[in-house]
Amino acid sequence: MCGIVGYVGKQQAAPILLQGLSKLEYRGYDSAGVAVFDGDGIVVEKCKGRLKTLCDKLDDGNSLKGTLGIGHTRWATHGEPSDINSHPHMSDKGRIAVVHNGIIENYLKIKEYLIQKGYVFVSETDTEVIAHLADYYYSGDILDTVIKVINKLEGSYALGIICKDNPDEFIAVRKDSPLIIGLSEDGNFAASDIPAVLPYTRRIYLLEDKEIVRVRRDEVVVCNTDREVVQKEVFEVDWNVDAAEKGGYEHFMFKEIMEQPRALRDTVNPRIRDGKIVLDGISIKGKDVENIDNIYIVACGSAYHVGVVGKYIIEKLSRIHVEVDLASEFRYRTPLITDKTLLIVISQSGETADTIAALREGKRRGARVLSVVNVVGSTIARESDDLIYTWAGPEIAVATTKAYSTQLSVMYLLAGYFAQEKGLVSGEQTAEYIRILQKLPSLAEKVLENKEDIQYFASLHYNSKDVFFIGRGVDYAVSLEGSLKLKEISYIHSEAYAAGELKHGTISLIEEGTLVVALATQEALFDKMISNIKEVKARGAVVLALAVEGNTAIEQVADSVIYLPKCEDLIAPSLAVLPLQLFAYYISVIRACDVDKPRNLAKSVTVE
Ligand code: GLU
Repeated sequence: MCGIVGYVGKQQAAPILLQGLSKLEYRGYDSAGVAVFDGDGIVVEKCKGRLKTLCDKLDDGNSLKGTLGIGHTRWATHGEPSDINSHPHMSDKGRIAVVHNGIIENYLKIKEYLIQKGYVFVSETDTEVIAHLADYYYSGDILDTVIKVINKLEGSYALGIICKDNPDEFIAVRKDSPLIIGLSEDGNFAASDIPAVLPYTRRIYLLEDKEIVRVRRDEVVVCNTDREVVQKEVFEVDWNVDAAEKGGYEHFMFKEIMEQPRALRDTVNPRIRDGKIVLDGISIKGKDVENIDNIYIVACGSAYHVGVVGKYIIEKLSRIHVEVDLASEFRYRTPLITDKTLLIVISQSGETADTIAALREGKRRGARVLSVVNVVGSTIARESDDLIYTWAGPEIAVATTKAYSTQLSVMYLLAGYFAQEKGLVSGEQTAEYIRILQKLPSLAEKVLENKEDIQYFASLHYNSKDVFFIGRGVDYAVSLEGSLKLKEISYIHSEAYAAGELKHGTISLIEEGTLVVALATQEALFDKMISNIKEVKARGAVVLALAVEGNTAIEQVADSVIYLPKCEDLIAPSLAVLPLQLFAYYISVIRACDVDKPRNLAKSVTVE
């Protein structure tokens, strides 16, 4: 959560900071601010509201002079969104300014201590303690000061720090929150994510925890907490700035929905070679796979929903027991892990705080960790034993679409791979499975071609108060995602239920006109779903069903039907999720919600 940018170089800093923040606004957007060194001292400008409010106030940054500064777009954790709580935070006497992403868990203790020492706090944030603590420790040597400060901090942070006495540099440091350094001839940068620096450079340093960086116009020095210089490798970004732009679409979410066939191709095709599934990033092969007797899939939000589908398909194909856990639960529940346990963690950003903590907990207990991640070089990617990247490209809309789909395709690859390595399938069966997987992108294209139908259904139902999504087996897993998508971007209350479970309580909520979205893509469960649809119809529900072409019997029970192209049951989830994403998208648009930046949310959740 929250986006940080720092810049020092030949150009005016404030326009570059605001431009960079605009690329990070998906990370947090309840307030924004910048601090620049204007030649005399540090000037801070900040306010509650979207970044646009700050840009308007500062003439897009042109009204602030100076060539060094730091900026922040906030997702409040401590203290409501307000002008005062916005970052940057300043120390007494205006010596040090700080922007922060994360949570300082021991801030109250530090605050009490500093109050006793005479410091006056103006905000409710945890961040403000960092500015005052830096002032308290300040010895004339900013590096020394920052080391002392971080030695006292508990929790997570990515920090940008400027000091009035050092008008030619800023300090960047991170622990458990993302931060990268951008290197260019004309100046250097720090940022929470690559898109912020991509208009200026593709040359990046990926920082490790507690690496402290002095960023100057023509020099970047990285050191550890013992002040020893750390040699970093330059990481060259190989994707384009357009990948993180809207490219003519009204919303990132819509662009990203439409990109899914391409993203699926990019994720699946390179992993198919000579009639086999080849996963270069993982070294578990043959006997190692046979040795695995238990898999935990651990993730948050939509990635967790991918795990729920993953459980069905991995168990079915590879006959390994799979448990799916929410990362925030897993880490505190003493899971049963042995040296035969494989922990699969899934995260788009690779920086999800709960998932990182679960990964570390799993490792500590002896599990081998395989991660499924979209952002190259992210913390989860770096800390895992085995790694599979989803090649979705940058995902900007807060509500995930293409990351979900590509993560799901990796579950298919893994399930097939485990079966192949365990020798459970013949060459012919593997070839058939691969053929099914490789059909997926063109089938997805077909589903997306019917977007106008979904738009029509959205126009019928955008006023719903409550929506229920029901399904059985993998359809239940997809229902979870469809329901989440709707609630997160349209603010309509919605629940997903295993269709057979509804009558054990929740059916009491169905009343005349309640919308039920019923997923019935699974041949073997089709008749059961027909019965469940009848049950809700009998209680007054309006049913929008999702079924596979040819299964027209569903028209006798549902009010309307969205058909998916003919496909094998196994891959239906990858197709079924697409109309549900579009349904949520169109409803959000009709209700004039902020599709890409829904209220109270942020994209990569880097706090617990
Ligand atoms: N904890 C800090 C605050 O509430 C930073 C939150 C963030 O990462 O945006 O201000």
